[in-house]
Amino acid sequence: VVLCAIHGQPVAAEATAAAPAPAPEQFTFDADVGRLMDIIIHSLYSNRDVFLRELISNAADALDKLRFLAVSTPEVMRDPRSGEELPMHIQIKWDKEARLLQIQDSGIGMTRDELVQNLGTVARSGTSEFLQQASKLAAEGASSDGAIADPSSLIGQFGVGFYSAFLVADLVEVHSVSFKDPSGHNVWQSKAQGAFTVRPFDANRGDEPMTRGTRLILHIKEDAEDYLAEEKIRELIHKYSQFITFPIQIEIEVD
Ligand code: ADP
Ligand code: MG
Repeated sequence: VVLCAIHGQPVAAEATAAAPAPAPEQFTFDADVGRLMDIIIHSLYSNRDVFLRELISNAADALDKLRFLAVSTPEVMRDPRSGEELPMHIQIKWDKEARLLQIQDSGIGMTRDELVQNLGTVARSGTSEFLQQASKLAAEGASSDGAIADPSSLIGQFGVGFYSAFLVADLVEVHSVSFKDPSGHNVWQSKAQGAFTVRPFDANRGDEPMTRGTRLILHIKEDAEDYLAEEKIRELIHKYSQFITFPIQIEIEVD
């Protein structure tokens, strides 16, 4: 892992002039996805640290996929608008006051349809097996609130994936620009609770433009403020993400 600090501005952007924008489209999570999220959110409190590993690994997967595509189609590395080659990296920044944590990659990105499918309606492979194992474990030795007695073996086996973001965030925004459609910037949003929305980029909502890739903005829960600190983020990266082959940049908050 290559850690490199860069100085920058806070994550939050102020909304400016008001203009009508298309209303966000509403979706409900697939039933299996909903169950998976419930299990993750209610069972893994003592393992909350894993969220950063999962999100960094998704970012690295997205960069790997782009690198693989570039073997046969080198153009995918370039921003078609400017023609410039975009860096292959993962950037992490945060704003303690606004309680935001941002993880951004310059990987393949997702189209609007992929946001809907990959993050909500199509359970990823392994989900049903995870659910089976989880309910087995729960039946064997669950506490009264239904939490899984020892979920760590399951996490190791399956990984908990994207939804682990909800361990530390009560609102998750996913901004994405696919290499397939560089002019399409879409925003997926959810507070869990069975539903999510997808809408196009809207500067009036404070969206910051981006080139190819995916930007996760986690609205960090009050009791998870620990994660909005350089020390903690460095610790987690070193502990869980040291074999990531792409540079991880940490943007240090300046005041
Ligand atoms: P897994 O990584 O095991 O497939 P996840 O729950 O972590 O499962 O992610 C679900 C899917 O969402 C991924 O398979 C991928 O298609 C998509 N995804 C998640 N994060 C990103 C990202 N940063 N860039 C592009 N696609 C992503
Ligand atoms: Mg994953």
